[in-house]
Amino acid sequence: MRRLAESGLPCNARVSDIIEGNEWHFPTVPSGIQSLWDTINFLPDSSILDKACWEPSASGTCTIQSVWEEMRITRAHDKGSKLLWHSWHIPRHSFILWLATKGRLRTQDRLHNQMLPRVPCVLCGVHEEDHNHLFFNCTLSNAVWRMISLKLHVTWPTVPWLQAWEWACDGYASRSQHHSHVLGMALAATIYHLWSERNQRLHHQQHGSVQKLWENICGSVRDRLANLNEVCLLPESIRRQWDIH
Ligand SMILES: [Zn+2]
Repeated sequence: MRRLAESGLPCNARVSDIIEGNEWHFPTVPSGIQSLWDTINFLPDSSILDKACWEPSASGTCTIQSVWEEMRITRAHDKGSKLLWHSWHIPRHSFILWLATKGRLRTQDRLHNQMLPRVPCVLCGVHEEDHNHLFFNCTLSNAVWRMISLKLHVTWPTVPWLQAWEWACDGYASRSQHHSHVLGMALAATIYHLWSERNQRLHHQQHGSVQKLWENICGSVRDRLANLNEVCLLPESIRRQWDIH
């Protein structure tokens, strides 16, 4: 605006004030503003009325939303977000899964207090505990994943945990929305209950069986599905799979 004022045009000037015939007639201006004139690469049409148009909105009308969209810095969606935060998600499950995907759960390898003795993985009692072992390589986790694979008719790849997560994210995009939601719920419930079982064993010396763990995973997914507002819209295959009548 300050630069336009330097052109000598009045503040209520209209586009027609800088048109003569069918050509632009820009006022003589300092070099700074000439570069602005030079960006106008079309000839005017004096037969059309002036009209203010806000380009960032499709309608040409300036709205608060379009100004916000124009100003804000947008980032590409994390492709895992649909698997984590879909409309059927169980918040506490998704939160633990989200921490696991960031490698932020406080597994033994992340404890920096050297005064505390390191203990091996409490699920198998053999290997060092880190995210990769706890959620995928451990014999107990492996047994649970095999059960989940059979129920969901998926084959989890035998790769490190974060690669398996990537695989799940890609798989999510290729399935129908309902089946993708169930895949996300089962994945989150499995990680959540594996982490809970680990904490029960480590902090309360309470050991659950693989069967009990499996029942907890299935029970939480089934309860959530059965209590959805849109439960009547669930496909028959999902109803059968999770025993929902
Ligand atoms: Zn283990």
